[in-house]
Amino acid sequence: MPEHDPRPIELVMALRKQGITDAKVLSAIERTPRELFVEAPFTHAAYNNTALPIPCGQTISQPYIVAYSTEVLELGPNMRVLEIGTGSGYQAAVLSKLCRRVYTIERHKPLLLEAEARFKTLKLENVVTKLGDGFKGWPEQAPFDRILLTAAVADVPGILIEQLKPGGILVAPLGNPAGDELESFSQLLTKMIRTETGWKREALIPVVFVPMVPGMPQDPRKTHDGSDRKR
Ligand code: SAH
Repeated sequence: MPEHDPRPIELVMALRKQGITDAKVLSAIERTPRELFVEAPFTHAAYNNTALPIPCGQTISQPYIVAYSTEVLELGPNMRVLEIGTGSGYQAAVLSKLCRRVYTIERHKPLLLEAEARFKTLKLENVVTKLGDGFKGWPEQAPFDRILLTAAVADVPGILIEQLKPGGILVAPLGNPAGDELESFSQLLTKMIRTETGWKREALIPVVFVPMVPGMPQDPRKTHDGSDRKR
């Protein structure tokens, strides 16, 4: 990045206009160099407020959605946060600036390896990673103060609910996953607060996330493009 790259602050100004008001979230976005999280052909667009393709047929989320999700998580400096869907690692990097530790799970090994290298480059020592199926959560590290799903599910898996502390907040895109024959705007980012007796649930905004896929990918050598085979 050139020394006085104006793009991060321009992005922050755009996010502010879109209604992101939490100064700590905006500062975390400003201090996270998104150009490190996108592939070479897209570095020119790294600070555009758009989602971009990453390997394995996945996407790095739009900065607005990253900022918004982070804001509604209401993070505190001592919190331990579980993220499902590491992808590029961008969302985890933003979260890591606002909490004690981020636990992030990804099912595609090539994505996880690249994300780990980025965390190392940026010296983000409070991000820990796991190659695995997010539908199982991370029982050894549970319970978490916050859980963020960055892949779409029809409903929140019970196992993840069990891994959230009472009073904890879970944010997830709920509804039909984007793509194929499904309506692409049929997901709603949803905030769930675990209460003593159950859940308080609040639908927030329409979103488009890639689906959360159960199990681990097949051996990429067996497919044409490294993406999952259709079931
Ligand atoms: N948070 C990412 C973007 C997420 S894209 C970022 O900031 O770049 C959604 C990611 O969820 C993809 O990388 C996808 O491989 C992953 N994913 C989908 N199903 C999963 C599962 N069952 N367990 C873990 N990760 C999953």
